[in-house]
Amino acid sequence: MHCPFCGANDTRVTDSRLVAEGDQVRRRRQCAACGERFTTYETAELVMPRVIKSDGTREVFDEAKLRAGMLRALEKRPVSAESIEAAVERIRQHLRARGEREIHARDIGEEVMQALKRLDQVAYIRFASVYRRFQDIDEFRAEIDRLAQEPGFPDDPAGGRG
Ligand SMILES: [Zn+2]
Repeated sequence: MHCPFCGANDTRVTDSRLVAEGDQVRRRRQCAACGERFTTYETAELVMPRVIKSDGTREVFDEAKLRAGMLRALEKRPVSAESIEAAVERIRQHLRARGEREIHARDIGEEVMQALKRLDQVAYIRFASVYRRFQDIDEFRAEIDRLAQEPGFPDDPAGGRG
């Protein structure tokens, strides 16, 4: 690392600690040539894969767009902003964990559906009906039936009938 004061490349680390809840390393450095001290911050590069759209064009991953889609599905549903943010973060992690440089938009859509399925049944159906473009009411009903049969899926608390 070059000294920002004199340009010498002989600098040494005098202190190193984790900051930002462990997401960053802060290093105090001192230049061996001029003696100036400076600080560097090191963060893992969290590069999101590029998105391949259905028409084959590529675009940068847009977290705001992803969140907006989820919020639309979750409108007026009893899900906390905290849970939504956690779900967004989980999706980001899943997408990064694939280690691909490019990812199909439909894979992101599937991730969102899985996340919504855990958060809220109604939101999931809303999102899926738009995303999967159910052809007719039978297809839509089939998806709801499939959902109802999933083990561990919470019953609608407003329902109450066995
Ligand atoms: Zn220097």
